[in-house]
Amino acid sequence: MSLKYYTHGRRDQMKVALTFDDGPNPPRTDQVLQILESRGARGTFFVLGKWVDRFPQAFQRIVDGGHCVGNHSYLHEAHLGDFDRAEAAIGNLLGRPTQFLRAHYFNFFTCLYSPVAMSRDMKIVDADVNPADFAKTDPQAIVDATLNAPSLAGGSIVDLHDGREFDDAARRLTSPLPMIEALPAIVEGLQALGYALVGLDEMDLVDPIEWRPDGRGTFGSPEVREAIEGLGGKTT
Ligand SMILES: [Zn+2]
Repeated sequence: MSLKYYTHGRRDQMKVALTFDDGPNPPRTDQVLQILESRGARGTFFVLGKWVDRFPQAFQRIVDGGHCVGNHSYLHEAHLGDFDRAEAAIGNLLGRPTQFLRAHYFNFFTCLYSPVAMSRDMKIVDADVNPADFAKTDPQAIVDATLNAPSLAGGSIVDLHDGREFDDAARRLTSPLPMIEALPAIVEGLQALGYALVGLDEMDLVDPIEWRPDGRGTFGSPEVREAIEGLGGKTT
């Protein structure tokens, strides 16, 4: 058993996809929308089902803004069924299934056992530009890590975070601030390089990577790896 995931689109097109994980997180998500929309950019928001349930209007504003949304699980924990639970929350508001899914911590093990993740019409999407904005407090460092990434090219997918999985609201609202401060310079810098900032639904994803479950936990933190190793005993 294996799955395929994508890290980029066609390299011969001057398109970049900015992706935002772990929201909706009002009013931070709205600040992101304002920055994108005032500069003619679209984004893709990999939302958490638990935040869609708590902040349905914030989710609706993403959709109403014409942006792309994807499934990033319900609880952001290594529980089997988490993507399927999220799909119900997201799809009920969206009125259709999502087309894109991002595994939390880029760990693909739980995807293998999710009917939603493995459905034929779903694309599992990683990124090829990872500025680690969630771990940075200096906005300029986030700008530099994006615009100077060696992997940045046509078809790149950039992974940013407008929310967090934490239930602590203060932490969730504070965490994206450096990224939001960096975002105008990221958008304008990419546009100055000639890239159109598009949703994943406007990008032809190519060259998928095949992943097999004997590598599970490889991308996770020690805590997540431990949680995954405890799921249903060890298998190879
Ligand atoms: Zn996440």
